[in-house]
Amino acid sequence: MMAVSVNQALKKTLRDHELKATSQRIALLKLLNGTSEHFDAEEIYFELHKRQKNVSRATVYRSLEALVEQQLVTKLDFGDGRMRYERNQGEDEHHDHLICEACGKVIEFFNLEMEAQQIAVCEEHDFKPSSHTMHIFGTCSNCQKK
Ligand SMILES: [Zn+2]
Ligand SMILES: [Zn+2]
Ligand SMILES: [Zn+2]
Repeated sequence: MMAVSVNQALKKTLRDHELKATSQRIALLKLLNGTSEHFDAEEIYFELHKRQKNVSRATVYRSLEALVEQQLVTKLDFGDGRMRYERNQGEDEHHDHLICEACGKVIEFFNLEMEAQQIAVCEEHDFKPSSHTMHIFGTCSNCQKK
């Protein structure tokens, strides 16, 4: 079997979504696929700039929007005026978030019973769900000790 490099695979993903496989888009996907952080656009720009000096802020912002539009990247609103971005949640990668309002820490969780309950609610209302995001806001265990 021929080994397909990560770059090749990402190039194909981009082309499948009718996006030009630019090195910045590939770097962006690599960054988000390789982290469980929830970066805002500015943080993503800084991370990419560290690796590739010729990255421009405008291109990063534009690329992010294009990737979100093609559902290769997920955009999250934690209600603090900074949009966050994370790897796209595939079928088996779905998770929800606990967000600490004191330190900004984001904890990812997945609870099968909770998911099942949501499906049950939709069925009750004869509602066909396409997606959902659940954010629970509060105070993380560290911040509670302060
Ligand atoms: Zn969920
Ligand atoms: Zn905290
Ligand atoms: Zn997440």
